[in-house]
Formats: sequence, structure tokens, C-alpha cells
Amino acid sequence: GQRVLVVGAGMAGVQTAVRLRERGWPGAITLVGAEPHRPYDRPPLSKAVLTGGTGTAPDTAFDVDFDALGVELILGREATGVRPGDHEVDTDAGPLPYDHLVLATGAEPVALPGGGAGVHLLRTLDDAERLRPVLAARRDVVVVGAGWIGAEFATAAREAGCRVTVVEAADRPLAGVLPPEVSGHMRRWYEEAGVELLTGRAVTRVRFGSAHPCVLELSDGSSLPAWAVLAGIGARPATGWLAGSGVALGEDGSVLADERLRASVPDVYAVGDCASFPSARYGRRLLVHHWDNALTGPRTVASLLTAGEAETPPYDPVPYFWSEQFGRFVQYAGHHDDRDELLWRGDPRGASWSVCWLRDGVLNALLAVGRPRDLTQGRKLIERAAVLDPARAADPSVPLKSA
Ligand code: FAD
Repeated sequence: GQRVLVVGAGMAGVQTAVRLRERGWPGAITLVGAEPHRPYDRPPLSKAVLTGGTGTAPDTAFDVDFDALGVELILGREATGVRPGDHEVDTDAGPLPYDHLVLATGAEPVALPGGGAGVHLLRTLDDAERLRPVLAARRDVVVVGAGWIGAEFATAAREAGCRVTVVEAADRPLAGVLPPEVSGHMRRWYEEAGVELLTGRAVTRVRFGSAHPCVLELSDGSSLPAWAVLAGIGARPATGWLAGSGVALGEDGSVLADERLRASVPDVYAVGDCASFPSARYGRRLLVHHWDNALTGPRTVASLLTAGEAETPPYDPVPYFWSEQFGRFVQYAGHHDDRDELLWRGDPRGASWSVCWLRDGVLNALLAVGRPRDLTQGRKLIERAAVLDPARAADPSVPLKSA
């Protein structure tokens, strides 16, 4: 029989194996992962896992019985290259053959320039385990980056009783993803949580300190001593190991997949955080670093392998993600740009509100804060490219689906 080799045992890799079996893939499936741990889910790492106190952290392992599924799981093994001509993947413990190869190596966090004791990243279970004692000891922490990870970590650190300073290069939180009139309101979330937010200052270097384990040098010439630092300044596809293999990579480091998630060489596919794909819906290539994309992309690959191209529609999702920060449940669906008209549903100074982005009345994207029903309904409306009545959509007492 034919063998599918999946490289990367995170959400996307595990889902690929599970979906293949669900769809009746008859051949062998091998799942290879660099980490030593049983495959686990990442979103809890910046949430419940950090604040679990001094006991053991909640178990975030996926509830999947790999033996029962007939999936060979090889952990603690790192892929180092692919030879498409030979249909082989090289690893740190010898080559592995494949008939079909699924790339699912995810992303790696971007590190700060320089170094020092006490500088942390937050991507893996091991990272989270190293951060738990920092919070338990109520260390003063400096978070670099007011993005999703930075906000969630700051939330957990405040909950644990740490003094928290967040340094952000832009003039407000989430500057890369939301327009100023929306993300401006999030500045208040930091204040209310007792977090000091320093904006407009980039960290140029981290060095060892004498009185503190590290010192952050900032772009305005000042410096900030810290007991512990969390760098939350973004992530890049973990694709360095594919260099020279012939698998085409984009400037952002992503595997350049096609509309059915096939890579540029035969019998190779890519899913999750490591892959970008062309979206007809948005007229551009998307690199999505969110959980839902790691859940749904593998369905396309499993369908291709079991049912073939004619039975497999192009992968063109409405992106979705959520974040839990400063006591709020924040969700976003779709994709907006400056041409869209912004429409408020509710008061952004209140506990729950939403924002819609409309183009010619069509709902393109939605941000919901504490309004999960808006998100569920909005996501379906976005999928259908539904036209909304702006006056009704702006009334938070009217269900979005009736607007
Ligand atoms: P990963 O989960 O990164 O898995 C890839 C795996 O491949 C890793 O285990 C890695 O070790 C392994 N690997 C890498 N290189 C190799 C190699 N050469 N050989 C073998 N194995 C290799 N998304 C949301 O929508 N909502 C959230 O609230 C949210 N919270 C998050 C919180 C944290 C702390 C993090 C880090 C992410 C969060 N995300 C969230 C994003 C979401 O977790 C990711 O989009 C998702 O994990 C992507 O899955 P993946 O399988 O593509 O990649």
C-alpha cells in the first residue's frame, strides 16, 4: 500500500492523520514530530496552562488514540531535508520514505536581537513550563509586543500577581491587524488590568544586566531592566529545513501551496501555519497563523488523497480566530481592508460590542468582543457574501442574521 508521511505533529499534522483515516485511507500513515511530547494543543499554553498555579499544568494533549487509528507516531525526531526525486525525507535519525508527503511543521516565534538570562518565547509546552515558575514567583515581567500572544500572556501574568510592562513598537495594541479606531479602545483594557503599556518604542537589543538578569535597550535611547521578558513579536513558518529541496517557499518563509494545498513538487502537500495558499475569495495569497486553519486545511488534503481532485473543492476558508484577553472573549472572522466601511454594533467602551466591515453592503469581516452569537451568525453571512442593512446591523438588539 501507499504511505503518507506527515512531518510535524501539531494540530495540522494530527488532523491530517485523523481525517485520512476518517475518509478511509487504506495505506500506512506515519506522523513525525520534533517535540518529545505527546501531540498537544497550543491555545491553552498562553491561557490555562500558565495560570494553573504551582501544581501540574492542565493536560493539553489531543484526545486521539494513534494506535487505534493505525497511525505510526515517531516523536523526538526532526526532519532535516526532503529529496523529492527519491521520495524520501531525511531526519536526524536517518531517512524515511513516502508516497505522499504532508508538510505540517507550523511556525517558530521570532526572537529578540541580543540575549540575556530570562528571555522567553511562548510556542511550546516546554516554553510554557519554563514560564509557569516565573508567574508563580510573581516576578516583574516585561512583555515585548502587544499582539495576541503578548496580550494573553500579560493577562495571565496579572492574574498571577506579577507587575507587567508591555513594550510595543507601534502606537497601539494590535496595530498590524486592526484599524486605530478599533484597537485604540484596547489600550484601555491594558490600563484597567493594571498593565503599563509603553507604545512607540521598539526593543533594539537585549543584554545581560548586573542588578537584573536582562536589560532591554529601547529605540528612544532608554533602557528597561527586567527579571523576565516574554518576546511576543510574531512567528515565521518553520520551513528552514526545506531550503534547497525544490519545494518553493515565499518571502515570508511559507510553503507556496496551490488552491488545494499542493506544494510545488509532486506528491507534497502543506497544511497549517507553515503554508500559504491563494484565496479566490480575497484575491490574494493568505498565510494564516490560527488554529481553525490548522483544523480545516487537512480536510482538503485528506479529500484529495482519498477522493481525488474532481471531488475536492479548492481550499478557500473564511479565516477565523479567537483570543482571551483581559477578561474578554475576542473573536474575528473574515478579512477586511481600508476600503471597507466600518460599522459599530454597540459601545466599544462597554463590556460587549462588535464591529462589522462592509463593502457595498456586503459583510467582509467581523470582530466580536463578548458577543459570540454575532460571530457565529456573522461568519455564515461572510461565507454567503450576504448584503446587510447598515441601520439594522448597527443595532445590537437586532440579531445579525436578521439585519
Ligand atoms: P504547530 O502547532 O506549530 O505544530 C507544528 C509541529 O511541527 C511542532 O510540534 C514542531 O515541533 C514540529 N516541527 C517543526 N519543524 C519540524 C521538523 N523539521 N521536523 C519534525 N517536526 C517539526 N490560534 C487561535 O486561533 N486562537 C488562539 O487562542 C490561539 N492561541 C495560541 C496560543 C499560543 C501560545 C500559540 C503558540 C498559538 C496559538 N494559536 C491560537 C495559534 C494556533 O495554535 C496555531 O495556529 C496552530 O497550532 C497551528 O498548528 P500547526 O500544526 O500548523 O503548527
